[in-house]
Amino acid sequence: MTKSEELFARAQKTIPGGVNSPVRAFKAVGGTPRFITKADGPYIWDADGHRYIDYIQSWGPMVLGHNNEKIRNAVITASYEGLSFGAPTEAEIHMAEKVSQLVPSMEMVRMVNSGTEATMSAIRLARGYTSRNKILKFEGCYHGHADSLLVKAGSGALTLGVPSSPGVPDDFAKHTITVEFNNLESVKQAFAECPDDISCIIVEPVAGNMNCIPPVEGFLEGLREVCDEYGAVLIFDEVMTGFRVSRGGAQERFGVTPDLTCLGKVIGGGMPVGCFGGKAKIITHIAPTGPIYQAGTLSGNPVAMAAGLAALNQLEEPDLYTSIFSNTQALAEGLTKLAHKHGIPMTYNVAGSMFGIFFTEAEKVTNYQQAISCNNEQFKAFYHGMLEAGVYLAPAIFEAGFVSKAHTAEIIDATLAAADKVFADVAHL
Ligand code: PMP
Repeated sequence: MTKSEELFARAQKTIPGGVNSPVRAFKAVGGTPRFITKADGPYIWDADGHRYIDYIQSWGPMVLGHNNEKIRNAVITASYEGLSFGAPTEAEIHMAEKVSQLVPSMEMVRMVNSGTEATMSAIRLARGYTSRNKILKFEGCYHGHADSLLVKAGSGALTLGVPSSPGVPDDFAKHTITVEFNNLESVKQAFAECPDDISCIIVEPVAGNMNCIPPVEGFLEGLREVCDEYGAVLIFDEVMTGFRVSRGGAQERFGVTPDLTCLGKVIGGGMPVGCFGGKAKIITHIAPTGPIYQAGTLSGNPVAMAAGLAALNQLEEPDLYTSIFSNTQALAEGLTKLAHKHGIPMTYNVAGSMFGIFFTEAEKVTNYQQAISCNNEQFKAFYHGMLEAGVYLAPAIFEAGFVSKAHTAEIIDATLAAADKVFADVAHL
């Protein structure tokens, strides 16, 4: 029995499924999740002492790679002054100023503790601000686990929400309209049917929770126009894309300005942090300046602020993004070429430092239905082959991959060399 197997068996006795977030349990790929002991740069190590090149990067935030020295030192220094005060600090002002500087549409910012809190709060704000109940989201986009957002589409272009989890009352879900990502017509149809009821559109501007699916040309621009026409709030959930697909997020990369933006993990540099913000005329409607309630004991935590600021300051290095982006492109393109060499159908998407490979005959994947039709058996075999070869990919076909500053050209080459051998085995399935 490996140490990970032993720990997994023990964990399941006191933690549901042995994990504190479901995707970690390897349900989609089978086998035993690796219990991690440490991480550094592009690598993580498991409890059995195996080292892996890590393309999960804590599900996105480690743009600089793991265990960044400046972030670590900032956390140590801040911790000497106390761990939590429940009162305002100057570090929170620095953080809000830094976020506003890097993402100018975020004129004002409220800190929270997770991406889920950020999207949940932004939606409450949009509903309160517009005095409308419905929200519009996209099939395959994930915005955390708040009730209104755990809703999937049924058949047809416009589906009034059906909860995708027990525990979400139908009465909540019915306010969530789910339409197809990258399909502007379905958005227009929804608004035509409910012109005065939809408070906001919430979108991952590059979808990272159905593998990696960038917006098609005109999609984000179209969402902006629809929101302007109907007086709805446009919310970009940049929990994954913020500081990843460009220093200023997807809104900078695609030149479309939302009314509200949600950020998450990245601004904590690895600590539990999120925030939402946007136009001052909207965000001042939250308490204490406005009537819409939102709060948090640990929000703006001093240690988390120190970590986040140390992370964001380093993202201003010139050329940082150019080299991460070219390494990401080299990885996704390289994997796809190797798959083709071994006769395995594959295509890929890249958006900045996010990437996705798809085991499919399709030339391009642009929506959820295509993403879920990929060959899961080939993916699973590839996944376990890569894990054995020392490469740690996300354990599900629906997750984007992440490249950091620490993934140098040599690390990409080592990954491709491993993949060449694994694809040869997958081809014989
Ligand atoms: N939005 C997006 C786009 C996400 O990818 C996630 C989590 N992966 C969330 C929101 C929720 O963030 P958290 O897990 O920090 O609550």
